[in-house]
Amino acid sequence: MKKYFPPIFMFVIFEAVAITLWLTKDNLFYLFNFSYIGFAVSLGVFLFIKKYKYARRITQLMVGLYMLVYLGIISNENMQIEGFWYYLFTGVFEAATIHYAVAKIFGPLIFGRGWCGYACWTAMVLDFLPYKVPKEPRKKIGWIRYITFAIALVFVAALFLAKVGNIERIMFWAFIIGNVVYYAVGIILAFAFKDNRAFCKYICPITVFLKPMSYFSLIRIKCDKEKCISCGKCERICPMNVKVTDNSRRRENGTECILCMECTMNCPKDAL
Ligand code: SF4
Ligand code: SF4
Ligand code: SF4
Repeated sequence: MKKYFPPIFMFVIFEAVAITLWLTKDNLFYLFNFSYIGFAVSLGVFLFIKKYKYARRITQLMVGLYMLVYLGIISNENMQIEGFWYYLFTGVFEAATIHYAVAKIFGPLIFGRGWCGYACWTAMVLDFLPYKVPKEPRKKIGWIRYITFAIALVFVAALFLAKVGNIERIMFWAFIIGNVVYYAVGIILAFAFKDNRAFCKYICPITVFLKPMSYFSLIRIKCDKEKCISCGKCERICPMNVKVTDNSRRRENGTECILCMECTMNCPKDAL
């Protein structure tokens, strides 16, 4: 039974968040929302323990589709970075700001970039593409993320400064158009660089939050040097080019780890 502790623990954590937010915000939505996400995450962890090959993908599709279709399209909640700025500027601590606080700003202190491996609806689609293992060396163009980050901030700030009416409707369309653009750019880059996660590595504005916070992540993949035979397989198959055999926090591309577990599953010596 001990091996099933992680999924139970995950579910309890999410339930604690669900119940706390439900009672403090007096809104049943939070109970449903975080219970569902907690169930999806726990199911993924459970299936992973059972060595089911697509465990991560199941969680990723369950959470990603729920957020994209139910929260984004049906409930008109802009969960992109523009939505975060929008709610922050209006001073409303509601869904998008809570989502960012939990998944992308403070959560990474515990679970690193688990969001990127198990929940993001952009990567949910990109992970279907053929280049799961990057076929080309990493490019030095990660600075683009700061430009996309600034564009999102300036866009929302300009709407407020210009006192544009019906910003909520604009935010809905910004969500739809933004996602179409993200998917298009993500797919084109994946084929151009032969790397499914090229968008994540160079363009995604959310990494401006995710990378520094995940540097301190409690949950990390570590290498047992006693067992490792330096075959290099883990680093060859890592979709994010993490130098995973280096245990220091400063390891190369250390803040890129999405906890996909490909390295641990493929290590011939169970050293990770
Ligand atoms: S880097 Fe951005 S696009 Fe990629 S998985 Fe993370 S949040 Fe999603
Ligand atoms: S795959 Fe395992 S044995 Fe090979 S280098 Fe990585 S940690 Fe070491
Ligand atoms: S393969 Fe390992 S090091 Fe690379 S992203 Fe996945 S879990 Fe992290």
